[in-house]
Amino acid sequence: MEILAIANQKGGVGKTTTAVNLAACLAAKRKRVLLIDLDPQGNATTGTGLEKNALAYTMADILLDDVALKEAIVRSPAGFDVIGANRELAGMDITLMGQVNSHELLKTAIAAGDTLETYHYVIIDCAPSLNLLTVNAMVATDGVIIPMQCEYYALEGLADLSQTIDRLKELNERLHIRGVVRTLFDSRNTLANDVSNELDAHFGAIMYKTVIPRNVRLAEAPAHGMTILDYEKSSKGAQAYQRLANEVIAQTRQLASTANKP
Ligand code: ATP
Ligand code: MG
Repeated sequence: MEILAIANQKGGVGKTTTAVNLAACLAAKRKRVLLIDLDPQGNATTGTGLEKNALAYTMADILLDDVALKEAIVRSPAGFDVIGANRELAGMDITLMGQVNSHELLKTAIAAGDTLETYHYVIIDCAPSLNLLTVNAMVATDGVIIPMQCEYYALEGLADLSQTIDRLKELNERLHIRGVVRTLFDSRNTLANDVSNELDAHFGAIMYKTVIPRNVRLAEAPAHGMTILDYEKSSKGAQAYQRLANEVIAQTRQLASTANKP
């Protein structure tokens, strides 16, 4: 079982689109997947076809009311398991202010049972800020996948983000950047190409080879409560997320083989 958080403090960079469609593509490759929505916007929840305000339990019940993880797991219309979120998760920072262990509530919930051991991948969709929810994800996760748009401030943003992640290693020694995935990429845009090349030059070791193109089908799918595989499997967007899933699976194999070496 591997936990991967999809995070970037910047809004609208394709975190949720990546979380939902990576989860779908991993599930399509016969991996057992759990998607955890850790954003009060609940976009990952609705993106898998669930009605975010009709769930018996959500992440808010787990983090604020000690409901067990397994009580909140539902099978989504997308065909994999989800723990949903909605507005009830907002204001958690204020509710938990001053509570000593507020940054490790998710980690504690995961450790409280062996519920997650049945999954190959647990994917966490984070909110666009470094709030208490995102810190909880960073403390509980194995690695972080960073979706990134190739625009002027991308390099600076990535340098900042990797510094932040380094600092959070104090709370979680396993924490590392699993990979950076270029999203919303427009190959006709000269600046985007330049920035993409710069990212390869400076951060080559952590850049995924797969680049997710700007593809209108990816933007349309959530409006129908569908992943890209169910909405339009032949689209460029679906093909790209399938390649990304292959890269993630290959990384897992690589990590397992190095861990097993004496
Ligand atoms: P937030 O920070 O608000 O959580 P986010 O980082 O999760 O945003 P998304 O919600 O995934 O970003 O994407 C932002 C918008 O861009 C959405 O409308 C989404 O449908 C669209 N979008 C994401 N990726 C693509 C893509 N590759 N091609 C076209 N549209 C995309
Ligand atoms: Mg999002």
